[in-house]
Amino acid sequence: MIEYINECAGCAAELGCDGRACRYMNVPRFYCDGCGAEKEGRDRTKRQSADEVLYEYDGNELCIECLFNEFPRGEADEETECGGCGSGAYGSELAEVDDRRLCKQCLAKEFERVSV
Ligand SMILES: [Zn+2]
Ligand SMILES: [Zn+2]
Ligand SMILES: [Zn+2]
Repeated sequence: MIEYINECAGCAAELGCDGRACRYMNVPRFYCDGCGAEKEGRDRTKRQSADEVLYEYDGNELCIECLFNEFPRGEADEETECGGCGSGAYGSELAEVDDRRLCKQCLAKEFERVSV
């Protein structure tokens, strides 16, 4: 979920504060709908790792851990590989999405990152 926080503390006009239109009046904060962890919104000007942002899933906004937990997993002792990047993994480290099995990094690429 996205919450807007008022961080304006009557800041100085030099900081861009002009009362009601202050840019600190509505600062977006991003929280996982699953575990409540605070994450960042998508920022195309930065390199953000998979666990720094939220993903759109089924009407919810989830962190990578909660997104991963939405999918069935294989067995912990089953040696296999990710259907996206091909790296070796155990079944329990791959999410079964449609007919593919994906590691967290590859799973993250399948979903839209949440932004304002
Ligand atoms: Zn202000
Ligand atoms: Zn979460
Ligand atoms: Zn992968």
